[in-house]
Amino acid sequence: MREKTTPYLRSIAVSASIADQYYISESEPFADDTYNDPLHEDDHEVVKGLVHKYSNRALIKVSYQCAAHCRFCTRIRQIGNAEGTLTDDNINNIITYLYQHPEIDDVILSGGDPFYTAKLTYQLLQQLKEINSIKVFRIGTRLPLQLPEAFQSDAVQLLLSLIDEIAKRRPFYILLHINHPDELTEQALATIAMLRSHKVTLLSQTVFLKGINDNYKTLHQLYTQLHYTGVIPYYLYHCDAVKGIQHFAVDIEKEKEIATQLTATLSGIACPTYIIDVEDGHGKIPVPLNFINENNGTITDFKNTKHELK
Ligand SMILES: *Cc1c(COP(=O)(O)O)cnc(C)c1O
Ligand code: SF4
Repeated sequence: MREKTTPYLRSIAVSASIADQYYISESEPFADDTYNDPLHEDDHEVVKGLVHKYSNRALIKVSYQCAAHCRFCTRIRQIGNAEGTLTDDNINNIITYLYQHPEIDDVILSGGDPFYTAKLTYQLLQQLKEINSIKVFRIGTRLPLQLPEAFQSDAVQLLLSLIDEIAKRRPFYILLHINHPDELTEQALATIAMLRSHKVTLLSQTVFLKGINDNYKTLHQLYTQLHYTGVIPYYLYHCDAVKGIQHFAVDIEKEKEIATQLTATLSGIACPTYIIDVEDGHGKIPVPLNFINENNGTITDFKNTKHELK
C-alpha cells in the first residue's frame, strides 16, 4: 500500500502520533505480496462488494479509496486499488442480494471511506433506502480526521441530506475511526460538531497501536474528549492478525491492563468494549478484563479492593 496523506495531515504531522500512523517507517516490512485476509472477508464476499459474515448484518465496501492510507489498515491488501470501486452493475447485484436476504437488517457501509466517495455512496444509499428489511444503517469513516474540509463540499452535504431523510425513520450511525487525541484538532472537532447537528448517532472505533496509543493516559484523554464531544466509544480493537502490520500489535496482557484501568475510571458511556476479531474465525470477541479472578474466587473493585466472588 503506497504512502498517501493529505495537506491537512501533513500540517499536523508535527505530532509523532499522527506521523507514525501515516508515514512508512523503517520497521514496516515490504509485504505487498504477502498481505493476507485473516478475517476471511473475501470468503464471505457473496457478491462483489458485499461481505455477509454475520447472519443479520452485511458490510458493503463502496470502494477501496481513502483520503489517506493508515499503515496499520486491516484491508492493507486492498486499499488504493481502483478495482474496488462499485459499478452500477455491482450495486444492482448488491441490491438484489439484500432483497433476497431480508434477514439482513443492519447494513454497514465501509471500504475504503464512503464519505471520500460521497457521490457513489449517495447513489448506493438512494437504492438501499428503498429496502424495508434494512432497519439500521451505519457508515464507517475516518475522513473528519484526514480531510475535514471535505465536509464542506457539495457532494458530502448532499449525502448528509440524504442521510437525514433516511434517519427520519431508521437509526443511522456514523462510526468514526480515531486512535489518538492529537487527531481531535479544532477543524476535526468542528466537523464532528457539524455531524452532530444531523440526525445521526456518532460512535467511535479505535485500534490499539504500539508506540502510538498503548498507554492508559493517552486513551483516557481520547475517551474523555470523545465523551465531551458527543461521540460514544464503541469498539477498542486488538490489531488484526494481518501479515505486514504486526509491528503495530500490542501485547494482549498490556491491553487488558489498560482496558481494565479505563473501565475503572471512565464514565460508563465513555468506555469502549475491548475486543479481538478472531483470526481464521468468526466474531469480535469481548476480552475479559482483570476484575474477576475465577481461580481464587475474588473480584477487584474500582478502588483496587478485593472482594469474595459469590
Ligand atoms: C464488524 C463487522 C460487522 C459488524 O459487527 P458489529 O459487532 O455488529 O459491529 C459486520 N460484518 C462484518 C464483516 C464485520 O467485520
Ligand atoms: S481510513 Fe480506514 S480503510 Fe482507509 S486506510 Fe485508514 S484504516 Fe484503512
